[in-house]
Amino acid sequence: MPQPDAGLETHLVATRDARLDSYKALLRIPSVSALPRHAADCRRAADWLVALATEAGLEHAEVVETGGHPIAYADWLHAPGAPTVLVYGHYDVQPVDPLDLWTSPPFEPVVVGERMLARGSADDKGQVHAHLMAAGALLATRGRLPINLKYIFEGEEESGSVNLDSWLTAERDRLAADVAVISDTGFFAGNLPAITLSLRGIMFAEIDVVGTAVDLHSGMYGGTVQNPAHALAQVIAALKGPDGRIRIPGFYDDVVPLSDADRAALAALPFDEAEYQAMLGLPALVGEVGFSTLERRGVRPTLDVNGLWGGFTDEGSKTIIPAHAHAKVSCRLVADQHPDRVFDALKAYVEEITPPGVTITVRNLGGGLPSLTPSDHPVALAAARALEATFGRAPVYIREGGSIPVSASLDSILGLPVVLLGFAPPDSNAHAPNEWMDLGNYETSIRTIARLWDELADLPG
Ligand SMILES: [Zn+2]
Repeated sequence: MPQPDAGLETHLVATRDARLDSYKALLRIPSVSALPRHAADCRRAADWLVALATEAGLEHAEVVETGGHPIAYADWLHAPGAPTVLVYGHYDVQPVDPLDLWTSPPFEPVVVGERMLARGSADDKGQVHAHLMAAGALLATRGRLPINLKYIFEGEEESGSVNLDSWLTAERDRLAADVAVISDTGFFAGNLPAITLSLRGIMFAEIDVVGTAVDLHSGMYGGTVQNPAHALAQVIAALKGPDGRIRIPGFYDDVVPLSDADRAALAALPFDEAEYQAMLGLPALVGEVGFSTLERRGVRPTLDVNGLWGGFTDEGSKTIIPAHAHAKVSCRLVADQHPDRVFDALKAYVEEITPPGVTITVRNLGGGLPSLTPSDHPVALAAARALEATFGRAPVYIREGGSIPVSASLDSILGLPVVLLGFAPPDSNAHAPNEWMDLGNYETSIRTIARLWDELADLPG
């Protein structure tokens, strides 16, 4: 077991002010990837990180072209026999509007109490910066790192990661590693240290029901033809039962069952169901029978209608049978469901249950894979020890209902197990006005990361 490193701690205490200045300098670059007018800023952020990685003592630091916003890459590979970890973070940020809700300009970072307030402070520049600071502190005090490290800092995470998969595929050899650590998640309610074990995938589809070429007079034709809006309503109603179970045959076939230990860990999380319901302002919570609210939110697959339209929706009345009706439907998926297989099952079922007299088409609008890391993976266990040693309490294991597509890509393209070790406070306002990072989390995360690399040095490479 690694011992606390007094030299590292002394160095980190002595360099704190300079480190905060450097963190602020990164936050001042408005690297909004979704807006073309910020393309040069994205490149500037990548250049800036490459310079910081070089200054930290990392090697092969370079801005790598992807066809879109570049990736900042660096590595350090002088620990033969020790594991190689691929670290992922992103330097791009979300747009900042509505600007008038910010209490200070989003790209002029300010420290208020223990908070660093700026766009990207938590998601994800603070975490990227902490990784480079950890490597720099280890190299400054020991002259070496305990393991081999490869860093990729993406510039398109907030705009769909459109060029990432092809880049990962092309660079498969250079990116070979034993495990990936993604730092782009957060702590649990109450700022509890957390390791995220799973993320849901997604499948998007559109259902189009067509009857006649134009709307029909409901007096002249009503009673003789199928109404596309009714037909669509029947199809939608048949997708889910009153017990919350999705009725698409085969939908649950690939779902990895929850172990008793997984369920016990979820049940032990501090979660107030009444407060959750009150926060939503709803008369009741509903969902699949036999599963708790946290299970339904994080580890069970779902199906939701995202939009529904057709016919006459303006003021007043119009006696028609609409010519067509449409719905957008999406499913959140869990391991080992595959978006294409789920789409095929949805399409086959919808075609089977469509009432006569209309034509139906089901279109695949895309998707992403789910990801799952077992809680007893050696790197997850090492991360738990590192969190406990530095934050002073054992982490909770959380399962996120949302999706981070890069997690599935690192798994499916590079064949890497993924550990999601993120340090953002749970209420960091990521993607919203007044995003902030807890400076205690930021400072301690540097110790956690250094400690994790020490923990991993003992594992076989
Ligand atoms: Zn992020």
